[in-house]
Amino acid sequence: MKISGTHEGDLRILCVGGGPAGLYFALLHKKVHPRHHVTVVEQNRADATYGWGVVFSDRALTFLREGDAQFMADLTRRLESWDDLTVVHRDEAMPIDGHGFTAIARIELLRLLQRHCAAAGVEMRFETRVERIDPSEYDLVVASDGVHSSVREQFAQQFESRSTFLRNKYVWYGTHRVFKTLSLIFREFEGGYYVAHTYRFSPQASTFIVECDAGTWARGGFGAMSDGQSRAYCERIFAADLQGQPLLSNKSTWATFNVLSNQRWSHRNVVLIGDALRSVHFSIGSGTRLALEDAIALHRAVESTRAVASALEAFETARRPIVEKILAAAEQSYEWYERFHEGTEGSLLVLTH
Ligand SMILES: Cc1cc2nc3c(=O)[nH]c(=O)nc-3n(C[C@H](O)[C@H](O)[C@H](O)COP(=O)(O)OP(=O)(O)OC[C@H]3O[C@@H](n4cnc5c(N)ncnc54)[C@H](O)[C@@H]3O)c2cc1C
Repeated sequence: MKISGTHEGDLRILCVGGGPAGLYFALLHKKVHPRHHVTVVEQNRADATYGWGVVFSDRALTFLREGDAQFMADLTRRLESWDDLTVVHRDEAMPIDGHGFTAIARIELLRLLQRHCAAAGVEMRFETRVERIDPSEYDLVVASDGVHSSVREQFAQQFESRSTFLRNKYVWYGTHRVFKTLSLIFREFEGGYYVAHTYRFSPQASTFIVECDAGTWARGGFGAMSDGQSRAYCERIFAADLQGQPLLSNKSTWATFNVLSNQRWSHRNVVLIGDALRSVHFSIGSGTRLALEDAIALHRAVESTRAVASALEAFETARRPIVEKILAAAEQSYEWYERFHEGTEGSLLVLTH
C-alpha cells in the first residue's frame, strides 16, 4: 500500500464513479504519472447524466486554476457568464449586482473531462456498477460515487456517515427559456409558495430547479402526478417567467435534499471525495466546485508524500477547514429556504464562495 513518489511505480488506482470528482482526480494523477494504472468505473453510459447545468461563482474558478491548465482553458471557453443576479418577488424583478457567475451544462463538463482523461490514458469503464470493492486489490481507492455512494455504504461504520433529509421538496428541470442572469423567482400559486432557482448554462438553455415546502407540495398533489403533469403544473406556476417555453425533464423527479457528511474521510486506502464525502445544498451552487477542488487537494496530498496513510491525512488536514466553512454557509442557506413559505425575516444567502 505505497504510493511511489517516482514516475516508475506501477500504482493501481480505482476511482469509483465518473462524475466531476473522480474524472478530475484521475486526470490530474495520470498526467503526472503516465505509467500508473488509473481506472474510472462509472455505472452510467458516457453520454448520460442527471440534472442540467451547473453554476460556479467567479471566485470558484480562481481556485480551479490551481488544477490542470489545459482543462481549465478548455472549460473557460465553454462557460456562460454574467455579472449579477435577479430576485423576482411579487412580480417585481430586483437586480443585485457585484456577483460574477459562470455556468456549463453538466453533460458538457463531463464530456470535456472524459476527453481529457482519454487523452491522458485514463482507463474509463462505463455502464459498470460497483457494488463492493476489495481495497487490497488497489493501492488507492477513490470513492467518487456521489451522494448515494456504495463505497461509503460498504464502510459506513468506519466513515461514521451521517445523513439528514431536509423537509422541502425540489425538482431539477431544464428549459429553453434563456435567463439573462441567475434568477431566484418566488411565486405564490393556488395557496402554495414556490421558488425557482434558474440560470442559463448554454446560449439555448437554462437550469430550472423548483423548490417548495412539504405542505405546499402535498396540497399541490404532486405525489400523484406523472412527470408530465408535474411539469405542466410548474409551467402554470411560473408562466410569467417561462414566457411560453416548456419545462424539460431529464428523468427529473421530486426529491428531498440529503444533507450528508462523514466524521472520517478515509479508511485504510479508501478515501471519500466530492458528494460521496458531503453534499452541498444546491442553493449555494458549490457542489461541483467543491468536488473539483477535492480532486486537486487529494492529488496534491498524494504528490506530497510516499505513504497512502500520510497522503490521506494531509488531504483531510488541508481540506477540512475550507469545506466546513462552505457547509456552514450552505446550512444557513437551506435553513432560510426551509422557512421561506412562512415569510421568514432575514437575508437570502447567495453564492459568492
Ligand atoms: C438540484 C441540484 C442542483 C445542483 N446545482 C449545482 C450547481 O449549480 N453548481 C454546482 O457546483 N453544483 C450543483 N449541484 C451539486 C453537484 O451536482 C454535485 O455536488 C456534483 O455533481 C458532485 O460531483 P461528484 O463527482 O462528487 O458526484 P456526482 O456528480 O454525483 O458523480 C458521481 C458519479 O458516480 C456514479 N456512481 C454512483 N454510484 C456508482 C457505483 N456504485 N458504481 C459506479 N458508478 C457509480 C454516478 O452515476 C455518477 O456519475 C447540484 C445538485 C443538485 C441536486
